[in-house]
Amino acid sequence: MILVLSPDTSPDSAEYRQLLDHLAQLPKIKTRIHQEKGAQQILTEIYLIGDTASLSLEDMESLPGVERVVRVSQEYRVLGRHKDDHRPTHFEYNGVRFGQDNVNVFAGLCAVDNPEHVELMMKGLKEHGQVCTRMGAYKPRTSPYAFQGHGKACLPYVFELAGKYGIKVIAMEVTHESHVDEIREALKQTGNPTGVMLQIGTRNTQNFELLKIVGRQREFPVLLKRGFGITLDESLNAAEYLASEGNRNVVFGLRGMKTNMGDPHRNLVDFAHVPVVKRLTRMPVCVDPSHSVGTRNRAPDGILEIFHATMQGVIAGANMVLVDFHPAPTKALVDGPQALLMEELPLFLECVRNAREAYEKNVRLMGEARHG
Ligand code: PEP
Ligand code: MN
Repeated sequence: MILVLSPDTSPDSAEYRQLLDHLAQLPKIKTRIHQEKGAQQILTEIYLIGDTASLSLEDMESLPGVERVVRVSQEYRVLGRHKDDHRPTHFEYNGVRFGQDNVNVFAGLCAVDNPEHVELMMKGLKEHGQVCTRMGAYKPRTSPYAFQGHGKACLPYVFELAGKYGIKVIAMEVTHESHVDEIREALKQTGNPTGVMLQIGTRNTQNFELLKIVGRQREFPVLLKRGFGITLDESLNAAEYLASEGNRNVVFGLRGMKTNMGDPHRNLVDFAHVPVVKRLTRMPVCVDPSHSVGTRNRAPDGILEIFHATMQGVIAGANMVLVDFHPAPTKALVDGPQALLMEELPLFLECVRNAREAYEKNVRLMGEARHG
């Protein structure tokens, strides 16, 4: 059960103390407090954990300071959508809105290789009005002999160039808690020219200790990728680990499932789950067509299969697209064969816009049919 307090209920107020005293007396109930400091107000939610079945909604609603009460199902307590749950399905980070009702494209380098390529990428993004990108510095690789990413060495120039070209959010995978510290430190050293969305890759979806650490910090939002060999429920529970530790600015990423049933794609594209994740949770949903499809094959209609998968995700209501581009894919150190070319960027953005328009039109059509 969640008690949503009236906005700006001060932790020092008498009614807040009264409320906590009352809750402390409830048998077999533990409380966990979550505060969200917005620009205008502080929102406080108190999670009641334990034997809440015996508590009545009306009683709890009448307690001092309580504005609303949400009874949660067992699943995804913080991030889930529950009955009469009007909690938000969006968040803001560094001036960019991430919600279940909009789309952001994160086109960029799978792996940072050199400053020239980073600059060409960011310059191209700026020219096409983009403020988000992906830049891999820490790369989890199958072979220990493969390029592992430049790590913290590349962070200063990546962040400075982001500032130069107006990039506000960079999706960057972390595989260890030290990476979060390195990113924080490099941002500080360069004067915070940009923001970072920490990415938990598919190989770490169930690295629970990493999830707890990333969940305990609330400075950076998190993109959690679905595990490639586990159920959707298991991956959504992984996202809940982040939120249960305090960080609920989480985007959920679909990136395909590892099975040879997906051949000749790199992974079996799972974008039909976009509306499912939006129904079960309040998280914005990201699709990664590059790691799902994994090749630059072109269908007979002239459209690259990566474009096709992108549009399938967007027409399903996806809120973020993570996609590999490279100014010189033959020189890319990771995933060159699936990278899109800079000259394909405007086309790609237009296809995203077209698919989004079709989605919005379908939503309106369905609304009219249902409500007249
Ligand atoms: C990536 O986005 O660079 C990546 C490695 O993705 P995934 O974890 O989905 O394989
Ligand atoms: Mn990759």
